[in-house]
Amino acid sequence: MVLEIKKISKNFGGIQALTDVSFSVEEGEILGLIGPNGAGKTTMFNMITAMYPPSSGVISFVGNPLSNLKPHQITEKGICRTFQNIRLFSDLTVRENVMVGNHCRLKTNVMQSVLRTKAQKAEEARVLATSDEILEVVGLANDKETIAKNLSYGAQRRLEIARALASRPKLILLDEPAAGMNEKETNDLFNLIKKIQTLNITVLLIEHDMPLVMRVCSRIIVLNFGKKIAEGTPSSIQNNKEVIEAYLGVE
Ligand code: ATP
Repeated sequence: MVLEIKKISKNFGGIQALTDVSFSVEEGEILGLIGPNGAGKTTMFNMITAMYPPSSGVISFVGNPLSNLKPHQITEKGICRTFQNIRLFSDLTVRENVMVGNHCRLKTNVMQSVLRTKAQKAEEARVLATSDEILEVVGLANDKETIAKNLSYGAQRRLEIARALASRPKLILLDEPAAGMNEKETNDLFNLIKKIQTLNITVLLIEHDMPLVMRVCSRIIVLNFGKKIAEGTPSSIQNNKEVIEAYLGVE
């Protein structure tokens, strides 16, 4: 088991965003986390990534509780994420955006180049090679020098995923990656998520695009008003009466 969510609750003042939610994420799977707007999905991601603590309950990653950690420590442990709204360094190149994800920027100034130690140069070469490999994976190898804001919308979304992958995670949390994508971009995203799985990275996916979710996920968790109402294979979820009433029926 990669991630274990045990009786997690979260309230914000008077708002009960999550109530006693438990589920686990198995190594290598693509697990969907779905539910209507306001169901608590992003709140769950925010707690897994230590943006704020749960009101109660425990989150464990590869068997160890994730309590009292800072977001960057979560990244170091091997969990990365993307956000609902694109968060890129829009004036940096595609490659630089990925390198930032790897906590390193190359310094090209000549003086700095003279002063750099051998170890730093080796580290920079490693970061460059890794960044280029990741750009290959997400299909942006030909756009390395493109300024991020000049990419198409779908490509910007893929760059976000590339930047997350740059931290070499064991688990990636994708928050509505298909939002705003056209059919071709969504299809490319499907292929990318499948490719991420082949890299031995486990995927937890929040998504409202049900055809994509049903196609790409092996298992799905459904939240409604902060509570887990169902868990199972795509076909069992599609036929679940409570899920249809709460969510799928109104799509
Ligand atoms: P969507 O599909 O629209 O993104 P969601 O399932 O991700 O929805 P959340 O964003 O997790 O839902 O929100 C769950 C509930 O918690 C909502 O009622 C929301 O208003 C509330 N909430 C989330 N974050 C905060 C916060 N920082 N302060 C106060 N309330 C919050």
